[in-house]
Amino acid sequence: MSASGDTTAAPEALALLPLNVTGLSGPQRRGAICVWGGESLGADAISLGDRIHDGTKVFPRACPRCVDRVAAQQTPPPAPRRIWCNWHKGLADTCLLIQVHEQATTFGGDLYACAKCRVTWRLTPLGDRP
Ligand SMILES: [Zn+2]
Ligand SMILES: [Zn+2]
Repeated sequence: MSASGDTTAAPEALALLPLNVTGLSGPQRRGAICVWGGESLGADAISLGDRIHDGTKVFPRACPRCVDRVAAQQTPPPAPRRIWCNWHKGLADTCLLIQVHEQATTFGGDLYACAKCRVTWRLTPLGDRP
């Protein structure tokens, strides 16, 4: 392993960013200005990777701010964890672990209830107990 360059983002990641080359102006295709924001670029410009468009080579580049912004938009929010609700017998993404009472041992194991069932059955999540 050797230190190679100071690029802040991996080219593979950048290649995944949406870039509509067709809509780019001449300066944007030459990498003179930011492909997303249209700002003039300085030494911190990030190359998005040369590519061929309509038989012409384009050199899209962007400023770090726009790369961050566009990359952030690409990151989907983490999927809610779907857990089996022991009360309505179905998966829900609002489930919390419920305090297991002696009488409830017939369920066996940990008991989870979704938000709706917690209200319906007046259940107290384990984490909400003192
Ligand atoms: Zn920009
Ligand atoms: Zn439920």
